[in-house]
Amino acid sequence: MKRVGIIGGGQLAWMMADAARKLEVKLVVQTPNENDPAVSIAQETVFAPVDDGSATKILAKKCDVITFENEFVNLDALSVLAEQGVCFRPRLKALTPLLDKYHQRCYLSNLGLPVPQFFALDEVENLKSKIESLGFPVVLKSRRHGYDGQGTFIIQDFATLEEKLSWDLIKNSNKSLFLLEEFVPFERELAIIAARSLEGEIVTYPVVETQQEQQVCRRVIAPAEITPNQVAEIEAIAHTLLNSLQVVGIFGIELFVRADGKVLVNEIAPRTHNSGHFSLDACETSQFEQHLRAVCGFPLGNPSLQSAGAVMVNLLGYENSDSDYQSQRQQITKIPQAHVHWYGKTESRPGRKLGHVTVLLDNQNRQQAIAIAQTIESIWYPG
Ligand code: ADP
Repeated sequence: MKRVGIIGGGQLAWMMADAARKLEVKLVVQTPNENDPAVSIAQETVFAPVDDGSATKILAKKCDVITFENEFVNLDALSVLAEQGVCFRPRLKALTPLLDKYHQRCYLSNLGLPVPQFFALDEVENLKSKIESLGFPVVLKSRRHGYDGQGTFIIQDFATLEEKLSWDLIKNSNKSLFLLEEFVPFERELAIIAARSLEGEIVTYPVVETQQEQQVCRRVIAPAEITPNQVAEIEAIAHTLLNSLQVVGIFGIELFVRADGKVLVNEIAPRTHNSGHFSLDACETSQFEQHLRAVCGFPLGNPSLQSAGAVMVNLLGYENSDSDYQSQRQQITKIPQAHVHWYGKTESRPGRKLGHVTVLLDNQNRQQAIAIAQTIESIWYPG
C-alpha cells in the first residue's frame, strides 16, 4: 500500500478520500487543527501548520511520497528534507517560481505564455508614468499568500493607490510585497485542470468557465462555451507549463478571455483546484483521483466528461454561525442530478467555502447552467 503525505488538511485533501480508498492509498495529513476537514478521512495526522518544516520531517517518516493541498509552505525547510531524500511530488523546483505572484508572472512570460502587463513595485523608477502606460483601473496584488481574492485590489486612481501603499508600507515596511498589473476587462474567466504523470504523460480536463463574485469563485460551468481554437490554445498552454516545470500531479490554470478573443493566463495553482471540483461527479477520473494516481506513479485515468455538461456552485458562508445548514442542503439535494459535497467545517464565516454542489447536465446550454446555479443560490443564500 502506497502511503501519501499531504501538506494541508482542508477540503482539497478531504476530497481525496474516495480515490484513496479506491486506489488503496494511505493518507497522512499535516494540518494544524483537529477540526480541519481532512483529519476525519486521514489514517494519521501530524498536527502542525503547513509551513512547519520540522513537522514535515515527521510526516516524511510515515510516507513514501509527500504532496500538497496548500502551497503556502516553507520551501527552504522542505529543500533540506528533499536533499535528505524525501520525495515531494510535484518536485519543489516546480513550486519555486510559482509561490510569489511576481515570480510566477515572470516565469510564464519568459516561457512565452500570454499574461497581463505587470511590474513589481520595487522595480519602479517612475511609478506614475508606468501606471499611466497601463491606465486606470490597475490591479494591486500581494505577491505572496493571496487566495480567494484576499490580497487583490482593483485600484481606480492614483490617490487610492498611494493611500493603499502608504498604509501597507507602514504595516509591512516593504514595497517589494506588491505586484501591479493591468486591469483586464475580461469577457469571461476560464480554467483548465491538467495532470502530468511520472513518465511525462499529460492529460487535460475540459476547459471550464469560472464566475467570481468579489474575487471569490461562485460557479463553474463545464465545458466552457469557447471556440475549438481557444480550447487548443489553452491545452497548449497547459502542456508548455507542465512540461517546463516537469510537474508530477495536478495543476489548475486560471485564465482571462478578452472580448477580442485573446486568452491571458491569470494564475497557476500547483495543486487540485476549485475549478475542477465538477470532476468528482462529472468525469470518469476526478482531479483528486488523478492527482493521487500521478504522485503514486500509477497510470493516469480518463479525464473526460461522462455527462454532456455540468455546473458546480460553491456553497459559501454568508454569516458567522455554527449551523450545518441541514435544511438548505436537503432542498438542494432534491434538484435532479445534483450532488452535494459538504466539507464538515464546524464554523461558517462570510466567504468561507463550506461545500459545493455539482449538477450534471444533459446539454451544453450555458443559460440553462446559469439558471440552475441561480436556483441553487436562491435556496442557499437568504433573501
Ligand atoms: P487569488 O489568488 O486571490 O485567487 P487572483 O489573481 O486569482 O487572486 O484574483 C482573483 C480574481 O480577481 C480573479 O478571478 C479576477 O476575477 C479578478 N482579477 C485578478 N486579476 C485581475 C486583472 N488583472 N484584471 C481583472 N480582474 C482581475
